[in-house]
Amino acid sequence: MSLSFTLHGTDGAARAGTMHTAHGAVPTPVFMPVGTAGTVKGMTADAVRATGASVILGNTYHLMLRPGAERVHALGGLHRMMDWPGPILTDSGGFQVMSLSKLRKMDKDGVTFQSHIDGSRHRLTPERSIDIQHKLDATITMVLDECTPFPATPDQARDSMELSSRWAARSKAAFVPRDGYGLFGIVQGSVYPDLRKASADALLDIGFEGYAIGGLAVGEGQEMMYQVLDVTAPLLPADRPRYLMGVGTPDDLLGAVARGVDMFDCVIPTRAGRTARAYTSQGVFNLRNARFADDDRPLDPACACPACSRHARAYLHHLFRAGEMLGPMLLTWHNLHYYQALMAGARATILAGQFDNYAVGVRAAWAAGESG
Ligand SMILES: [Zn+2]
Repeated sequence: MSLSFTLHGTDGAARAGTMHTAHGAVPTPVFMPVGTAGTVKGMTADAVRATGASVILGNTYHLMLRPGAERVHALGGLHRMMDWPGPILTDSGGFQVMSLSKLRKMDKDGVTFQSHIDGSRHRLTPERSIDIQHKLDATITMVLDECTPFPATPDQARDSMELSSRWAARSKAAFVPRDGYGLFGIVQGSVYPDLRKASADALLDIGFEGYAIGGLAVGEGQEMMYQVLDVTAPLLPADRPRYLMGVGTPDDLLGAVARGVDMFDCVIPTRAGRTARAYTSQGVFNLRNARFADDDRPLDPACACPACSRHARAYLHHLFRAGEMLGPMLLTWHNLHYYQALMAGARATILAGQFDNYAVGVRAAWAAGESG
């Protein structure tokens, strides 16, 4: 049987469920740390597990270029290579081809591009993307699509969405079903409700184990993102997980959970951690700020991670000022822990019918905090 999803409860549009996979269960709502090149930067697999993460993400574009999908396959797949026996979701590679590679050329069958690493030429088609993700041993495979740029005219958005729909059908035909594995479709259509509906209809006709909402967090702003979620989430079946790709800040996550999203991934907590920015129950802190130099309080008294339970703000400040690698490691750990705790709180309060109160309380604490 393919990957499946059980919905345990709803509170308004917010949902709490469990995704059942070949590599274990995933309680939702869930945040997936990004393990770009076969590693969540600065974190051992044990450390990632200790933050409470149940599923992580790998990037097809990076892994196909280095070390190469065939090599990962020969080494036993991504789970074994990374010492991450839990579920792994891989993206299709399409988004990063468009954002990172040189001299890319799209055609109706795929995209040809030059590696940003060594200039070597590669080609990604729906079939090749699915094959690579199979070789990586992805628990959740994503269809190859085109992330419609923002802004796009209605005609541009329709052409792009229809291309993605054709590629979704080809991705499904190429996907080899395995017990507890799944393939997700991706709803496109930019900010146009009729195109989002047409995209969702086309994907539902093909049939997927889960549905992603793509083409957001590309510059449209939070308010417009929420408007698109308000019209798109209700189009998706209740018994399949919904995944908002590439989002976002803690505030974005609360807003999207309230609109019926179950799964998230984003580089924000890991990237911010490497640059001294901490997301906390009291708002966002920049640990490079001189006001922390003598501050012997924990970073976030409400957090049980090693950065908060064993060290003072002054020490974290010192590590960043001295350029010590432990600084980025500890703040990455903290930020991931914070995101996991935020989603665990969302899940518990959805099940208790208290999610709105929870979101109001969390946001009030951010506003009242001494962030900076
Ligand atoms: Zn912490």
